[in-house]
Amino acid sequence: MTMKRVGLFGGSFNPPHLGHTRSAAEAARQLGLDMLIFMPTGKPPHKDIANDSPASETRLELVRLATCHIKGAAVMDYEIKRNQVSYTYDTVRELMSIYPGCELWILMGSDMFLYFPNWYRADWLLKNTSLAVFPRTDDLKEILTYAEKLQSEGANVRIINEQPLVISSTSIRMLLAQRKGREYLSDIVYSYIIKNRLYGALPDFDWLRRKVDMMMEPDRRAHVRGTENTAAELAVRWGVSEEDARTAAILHDCTKRRGRSEQLNILKKYGTMSNISKMTENVLLHSETAACIAASRFGVSNEIADAIRYHTTGRAGMKVLEKVIYIADYIEPARQFPGVQTVRDLAFYDLDAAMIQALENTLSEIKKRGIEPDKRTEDALADLRRGHVL
Ligand code: ATP
Repeated sequence: MTMKRVGLFGGSFNPPHLGHTRSAAEAARQLGLDMLIFMPTGKPPHKDIANDSPASETRLELVRLATCHIKGAAVMDYEIKRNQVSYTYDTVRELMSIYPGCELWILMGSDMFLYFPNWYRADWLLKNTSLAVFPRTDDLKEILTYAEKLQSEGANVRIINEQPLVISSTSIRMLLAQRKGREYLSDIVYSYIIKNRLYGALPDFDWLRRKVDMMMEPDRRAHVRGTENTAAELAVRWGVSEEDARTAAILHDCTKRRGRSEQLNILKKYGTMSNISKMTENVLLHSETAACIAASRFGVSNEIADAIRYHTTGRAGMKVLEKVIYIADYIEPARQFPGVQTVRDLAFYDLDAAMIQALENTLSEIKKRGIEPDKRTEDALADLRRGHVL
C-alpha cells in the first residue's frame, strides 16, 4: 500500500483522553495526512508507566476505542509487542520500511517537543521526518522560539493551530477515583474504564443515572430516584457507605423492563443458573439479572451486587447495605399501599424491625394471591426474628 503522508502519534495513553484525540485529529486535518498511526508505548524511555496501570494490551484496547471514530486512524501494537524500551527512532525505521517513500510526521504535545533534544537520535529524526506540535497551554512563546531555532537548522516543524485542552492522563487517573474526569474522555472509553474498574475508577453518578434511565421505561425513573434518595438517607442513618447505597439503588431495577427470555439469557451469559427454577416470576428474575448487569457492565463490588440481588426476596444473614436497599425500595415516597407508613416510621428508628414488618407484609400479600413465596424471604424473616430484640 502506498502512503504519501503518515502521522505517528506515540504516547503512554494511560488513559487516552480528548486532549490526545482532538489534537491528533486536528493535526491530521491541517497536515492532510493519509494515515494517522496511534502507537501506545510499551516501556517509554523518558518515564515509567504509573503503578497500578492496566496491562499494555488494555491500554491498546483503550486507544482502539478512543480513536475508532477518527477517519484514517490506525492503532499499532509495534512498541507494545517489542517489550523493551521503545525509541521513536526504531519505530520510524520500521514504519519507513512498511511505507517506503512516505513523508513521515511525528506528532507530539509541546512538553514532548521541548524535551526533543533528549530523544534518542534526535538529529536523525529531524533530518528524516517532520514534527507537528500541539500546544498544551496557551503560552506558545517557548515552543515558537524552539521551533524557529530548529527550522533555521533545516528541520521541518509545524505548530498545529488549535485551542489546547489543558489536561493530562495523570490528572485524569486521579479524578477517576473521585467519580470525576468523565468530560475529558470519550463515552466509550469512560464506559470501558468503569466496566473494568481501571485506575480505581468509580462512576460519576449523573452518568450512571443517565445510562440506567436509558435502560428502563420513563415511568419507572421517579421510583428509582425516590429509592436512591431514601437509600442515601438510610445509609447515613445506619452507618454504611452512602455512595454504595446510591449505586445499588440506581441500578436495582435496571433490567426490569426486559422480558423473561431476555432475563434468562442474561443469567445464562453470566453463569448464575442455580436459582432459575425458583425464579418463575419476572419479579424475582429481575433482581438477579440486575445484579449481573451491575457487576459486568458497571463494575460494582460484590457487596453492591448482593444488595441488588436480594432487594426483592431478602435472605438470611442480610448485610446492612442489603437491608437499606430492601427498605428504601419498599418505603420510597411514591410507594402508597396499606402498611407502608408503619415501615417508614420504623426505618430510621429500628432497621431490623422495619425489615420484619416489611417481610411480614410481603409474605402475607403473596400468600393472599395464592403464590408460593420464595424460600429466601421466609429465611430472611426467620433469621431477623431470631436476632431481633425489641
Ligand atoms: P501523563 O500525564 O501520564 O504523562 P499525558 O496526558 O501527558 O500523560 P501521554 O500519553 O504521555 O499523555 O502523551 C502522549 C502525547 O500526547 C505526548 O506527545 C503529549 O505531549 C501529548 N499530549 C498529552 N496530553 C495532551 C493534551 N491535553 N493536548 C495535546 N497533546 C497532549
